[in-house]
Amino acid sequence: MSDEYRTQIAGHELSPESLMMGYGYRPEWSEGALKSPIFQTSTFTFESAAEGKRFFEIAYGLAEPSAGESMGLIYSRLNNPDLEILEKRLTLWDGAEQSLVFASGMAAITTTLLTFLEPGSVLVHTCPLYGGTDHFIHHVLPRFGVDTVEWRHGMTTGEVGALVGDRSLTAVLMETPANPTNDLFSIRAARNLADRYRNEENSVPVMVDNTFLGPMWQHPLRHGADIVLYSATKYIGGHSDLIAGASLGSHELMAQVGQMRTILGTMATPLTGWLMMRSLETLSLRMTRQNENAMKVATFLANHPKVARVSYLGLLDPQDDGYQIYEEQCEGPGAMISLWVEGGEEEAFRFLDSLQLAKLAVSLGSTESLIQHPASMTHAGVDPDDKIRLGVTDSLVRLSVGVENPSDIIADLRNALESI
Ligand SMILES: *Cc1c(COP(=O)(O)O)cnc(C)c1O
Repeated sequence: MSDEYRTQIAGHELSPESLMMGYGYRPEWSEGALKSPIFQTSTFTFESAAEGKRFFEIAYGLAEPSAGESMGLIYSRLNNPDLEILEKRLTLWDGAEQSLVFASGMAAITTTLLTFLEPGSVLVHTCPLYGGTDHFIHHVLPRFGVDTVEWRHGMTTGEVGALVGDRSLTAVLMETPANPTNDLFSIRAARNLADRYRNEENSVPVMVDNTFLGPMWQHPLRHGADIVLYSATKYIGGHSDLIAGASLGSHELMAQVGQMRTILGTMATPLTGWLMMRSLETLSLRMTRQNENAMKVATFLANHPKVARVSYLGLLDPQDDGYQIYEEQCEGPGAMISLWVEGGEEEAFRFLDSLQLAKLAVSLGSTESLIQHPASMTHAGVDPDDKIRLGVTDSLVRLSVGVENPSDIIADLRNALESI
């Protein structure tokens, strides 16, 4: 095995944390540069016409690559060294064969869905979903003749199957934990549902948007999912300074998604790829600290008289709905906290306007703590009845805990809660 893919030392398996600084890259490719440069180029030269022909044959699936042969560099919409190195590193956390990076989480989600859906397809999706995903499913896919079936929290897969009826199921899209309530859905149950419809023509892929817990605290491929999706804008990017997405799975599925990405042109830029490599070096440090901070913050909030209720995966009790699923498929509670303050919108706004350290902004998973009001911000477009059913009330505030000193975050929250 060549140096850039070394994953063990004398039989000792190296962890992703240790591989993020060099895996997939060799300094001699770039004048000995320890770090990969930004390959800020749109196109790549071929050494000969025959080489260019061969690269295109492989890129367009006209010929099978021979053993050890990979796709040559052609044009940055198809591939680029920064993206290729990053994609190799990203596979390590989720144990995927291959990954693809995109210009945004929405680019990853829509490109992946369009790869597998066609007129007459039936897509089962968990509910609620991220607003952009929800809009694509309910307002764009129907224009192309795709039917959708909602898997609401608390429904059994038998009930979902009854809604699919005698149609054949094409794919399942899940988001777990769900935003902004932290409700959990079972990946294993989705796999079992999909398998009932599986046949030679369709493998019924189960796709999981793992933005909230991944890639540290949930690994959907180990629980029966076929594809993992990310808004890499969140924990993977982690510094509120880039927009990106990713799709991960087997070589076979990613080859199909990759061809769709080439045609739609939804790939990330070389600079974004480079920034994400920088971010991945501290992914485990950041997510571990965020997780520890969130546990302290959630415990503080749960005991505060101005807080009516807290939803945090680290505070689930064995009798709570979702506890069993948490035990089965999650490896840590992450750093997303939902809290309902005493009162309504006025009290929630007074609390938000009094914070001095946590930033009043949407998005999540960054080094700084981010806080927002779902009912009037991220979930403003949700149907009023659905908001009530989901618990997205005027007193709900969603907090993404950052890497600051936890006593500072708590002091900020304590001070702001006093203003209610
Ligand atoms: C932010 C987010 C998205 C969309 O990602 P972008 O990078 O903003 O396009 C999708 N799913 C979830 C769960 C998100 O939080």
